[in-house]
Amino acid sequence: MDSKYLVIIDVDKIQDYIFATGKLKEIRGASAILSDFNDFGEVERRLAPFCGELLYSGGGNVMALFSGVDGEGRAKNFILSEMAEIKKTTSIATLTGIVEKTSEDEIKEKFVELVLRAERHLARCKESKWLALDFFHSPLIKVCVSCRKYPAEKRDGADSNTLLCRGCFLKRAASSRSRIFKQFCEWLKIKLAKEPMGAWNPSDLDNYYKSSIMEERDLSHIGDKSDGYVGLIVSDGNRMGEKLKTVQNQEKFKELSRLIKESLRESLFEAIARGLTPDASGFVPVEFVLVGGDDLVLVLPTNRAIRVAQDVCRIFQEKTREAGSELSISSGVAIARSKFPISRLHKIGEDLLKSAKRLSNQYKTEEKIEAGCLDFAVISTASSSGIQEIREKEYSFQPPNQNFKTHRRPYRVFDSKNNPSELMDLISSIETLQKEKFPKSRLNQYYKALLSGDKDQLLYDLLRLTARLKEKERKVFNNSVIEKLSMKNFWVETSENAEQVYKNPISDIVELYDFIQEKKSRQMTEIKNVFLKIQITPRTPFHIGSGLGVSGIIDKAMLKDASGLPYIPGSTLKGRIKYHYTRLYPLFHSDPICIDYAACCAIPDVRSCCSVCRIFGSRAHRGGLVFKDALQTKPQFKGIPSRRVEFMKTYPPFSPSIRMGVKISRRRRVAEEKKLFSMEVSSPQLPYETEIAGRLFLKEKEFNFFLMVLKRMDKIGGGKSRGLGAVEITFLPETKEDEQ
Ligand SMILES: [Zn+2]
Ligand SMILES: [Zn+2]
Ligand SMILES: [Zn+2]
Repeated sequence: MDSKYLVIIDVDKIQDYIFATGKLKEIRGASAILSDFNDFGEVERRLAPFCGELLYSGGGNVMALFSGVDGEGRAKNFILSEMAEIKKTTSIATLTGIVEKTSEDEIKEKFVELVLRAERHLARCKESKWLALDFFHSPLIKVCVSCRKYPAEKRDGADSNTLLCRGCFLKRAASSRSRIFKQFCEWLKIKLAKEPMGAWNPSDLDNYYKSSIMEERDLSHIGDKSDGYVGLIVSDGNRMGEKLKTVQNQEKFKELSRLIKESLRESLFEAIARGLTPDASGFVPVEFVLVGGDDLVLVLPTNRAIRVAQDVCRIFQEKTREAGSELSISSGVAIARSKFPISRLHKIGEDLLKSAKRLSNQYKTEEKIEAGCLDFAVISTASSSGIQEIREKEYSFQPPNQNFKTHRRPYRVFDSKNNPSELMDLISSIETLQKEKFPKSRLNQYYKALLSGDKDQLLYDLLRLTARLKEKERKVFNNSVIEKLSMKNFWVETSENAEQVYKNPISDIVELYDFIQEKKSRQMTEIKNVFLKIQITPRTPFHIGSGLGVSGIIDKAMLKDASGLPYIPGSTLKGRIKYHYTRLYPLFHSDPICIDYAACCAIPDVRSCCSVCRIFGSRAHRGGLVFKDALQTKPQFKGIPSRRVEFMKTYPPFSPSIRMGVKISRRRRVAEEKKLFSMEVSSPQLPYETEIAGRLFLKEKEFNFFLMVLKRMDKIGGGKSRGLGAVEITFLPETKEDEQ
């Protein structure tokens, strides 16, 4: 009888590896490394030399089967090779692997028992594993500035003063790619070939990737789309272990795990495509932190997070139902300012997920339905208490009123009996309040009363507040809150562990209120189509050199256009405006700008650049504006066209004149010997006209500042210290600027 060997490999403390530091750059890098490491195709390729069969790969987990001559030896060698591989790719992450002996019969008939036995084996191995990885901190050994855990041995590519450990270095190096985002783009490509979807453009797919997966991106870019708030979603399948117990054999197991993986990916991508839109630069505000097996961690703008999380739950369940084995997932959505430490936000998200799963389990045991649930919380303080603790402290009453909770969460999102989504009811209640312009201040009064902690006073307060509502307000409140959310005497009756619990959803309404409707973002840079027509009127003669002298006659010749007339090149104009803008900007603004072109920020995405780079360009990208050459306004010439140039040359104000100059030695303050020189200058009086046009990523305020600088520009060209080149700028009526 041929023996077979099942190998299970699991990355140790995968979340700790991903969230070791709070920096998005490293989190994304870690996530990219792991999703590459766990990619089914990649694992299959690594497995091939050992002649194993890959059953499952995802979420740090690999399961493979070995048979034939020396199956055990090959199985063990595969584990060793994977250990070396993870050491090579991460330097700091480790994995545990076990070999479980089995037989053809067991695989065919008792596969689940085999998997469970192997998992127990794995758990025992993990427990006994020495995981204390703290290094001896010698004062002579420098510690990584990022994780402060491992010895530093690498310098950050971008900043050689930053000493990193190998692990953090590798994460940063991987931070500009995302396998999941790439898969999302591929998925979009297929979808868009069939039918158009929202604002997604098939020819922009590369741009979405480039714009979104940039090293410089951090959570604030996502938060900017929702008043500075991000939502971190943590999702996980409900009772997946139980589901696996129904599996007969290895083939069925493979099938089910593939169904889970593919359905989750599909529903995630679909929810994202429906819930998000790329902005003008192609940036898609989502960070896929972890997508593997039945696990999901992602960050979104808060005003999108609840809907996307709800859609993922619903679509996943629909898809698995269609495929004949209905499964559900639950989600926790942790909401906070984008500056909130992401590793803590993740911990809170996990707590919320647990709470949502408890509700799902309750539906399973009490009503025998498969339900996807969702819990959320808006974190406003930096307190380190867990969700359970916060709710017990702030949203509950002392005995004997402990069965009254001043929140309604968690919510059922979708279930196997197609009951209406409780969460959808809450959202539509909020939407109605917003539409009917129900005063937010009224809601806040309810909220304050609810959180006052005095149960006996509460009913009185709620009645008093409702009595004070205006006729129309009371109607809206009754319809969209009391009735919509099935409240009786201000409470929703629910059961928890076979006990009656009374909950109040008004606090949920207030906390989510600002994140439901998409608000027009105020701080974000907007695209502006600019078309300025300006007139430059010289007040004194000016000189813009051609860089050439005319031998024997003029030392410094004027730049002239094809018809022999002086003009102001667009580049000179641009340089001059930039010079003023760069000098004046810091006096009125607090955000940094690049003073020196060579030391410019050089961020590839225009949007993330400083004000100067966005308008005038940087080493990495062009500026948003084109400055045309300023040409003399031609007088009306009535005559034979061929004589026009002649006419202009003789027309006195047009012809340049020669001016003598003396170079003064600044040190000795005397005229330098032989430094008498001649300079060709323009004749004053006649104005020049030009156009400045383009598309800018600019805030309204910034644009006004640009116009102010432009108007203030009073000198141009050479010899400014000698009083040459005084100009006056006026805007011509054709000037128009429209916002898109
Ligand atoms: Zn480190
Ligand atoms: Zn810059
Ligand atoms: Zn720049």
